[in-house]
Amino acid sequence: WRPDDDDDQQRRGAAGPVKVRVPAKINLHLGVGPVRPDGYHELTTVYHAISSYDELTARRGDTLTLTMAGEGTGELALDESNLVIRAARALAAYAGVPAHARLHLRKQIPLAGGLAGGSADAAATLVACDTLWGTNLSREELAAIAAGLGSDVPFLLHGGTALGTGRGEAVSPVLARPTTWHWVVAAADGGLSTPAVYRELDRLRAERDAPAPLGSPDSLLAALRQRDPKVLAAALGNDMQIAALSLRPSLAATLAAGEAAGALASIVSGSGPTCVFLAADEGHAGRIAAELASSSVCRTAYPAYGPVPGARVV
Ligand code: ATP
Repeated sequence: WRPDDDDDQQRRGAAGPVKVRVPAKINLHLGVGPVRPDGYHELTTVYHAISSYDELTARRGDTLTLTMAGEGTGELALDESNLVIRAARALAAYAGVPAHARLHLRKQIPLAGGLAGGSADAAATLVACDTLWGTNLSREELAAIAAGLGSDVPFLLHGGTALGTGRGEAVSPVLARPTTWHWVVAAADGGLSTPAVYRELDRLRAERDAPAPLGSPDSLLAALRQRDPKVLAAALGNDMQIAALSLRPSLAATLAAGEAAGALASIVSGSGPTCVFLAADEGHAGRIAAELASSSVCRTAYPAYGPVPGARVV
């Protein structure tokens, strides 16, 4: 980087603020295989992006700074450990430009909730800074940087409904007839650490206190091709659910309350503790959300739909 690179960048990039909206993800199928030699579990997952969003705004600056509002403010560190800062630095290093930006995060996705909020913010930062700096990388280049930041980050660039393999970072779109599915998201008080939930799953499996792993996502993929939410309800599955329930037994009451409110299916999202419920249609989702929101089994509950696109400039 040379001093006049800044001027060059001013000419190439966006002059005004760049605002990017990014969705949360749920896993319609989360099959956890054995631990690999590199310490990651082998996953087969079907990701689904839902209409619950964080928003990242990038402005020109002389250094790299991050401010935030919303979920997790005061709790989430805004230093070099934050995935937003890590994503900006990774993009700058790859593209050979100075990592100069004023970033502001408006967060709605709960922290450590199993909705991949941190990964979503990383994906949003890549898209925002790529536009701000005028680096204009290809989708493939952004996906490669994303994979180095976290297993879920490539999917959050992508959005929609997609199959994830490897440790989740290898993403291929699921071809299905366009159907909108209606969900209710029930956020819990406090988060669950994803590594701790994996450790609990390994412990339960070693004790043989866990059901057999889910295996192939074929029945879920077949269910997505039909447009019947009852068929989809029967095909949802999450190998991590038993471990999340073991660490947070109160989630059993949340799942049961969703079913009592008429949900077609109740499932823990990823590593939890957020629970998601499948509804028959938009009105049904609204009624279930209202009932759960006024109960004591969750911190808050709201309707959402999917699939929606990944990180996009708005
Ligand atoms: P996943 O399902 O991908 O494991 P999660 O939804 O359970 O993720 P996140 O909110 O994505 O959890 O983040 C987990 C941890 O990552 C947080 O507890 C925090 O320490 C760290 N982190 C770093 N940057 C961020 C960020 N921008 N937003 C949220 N968490 C972040």
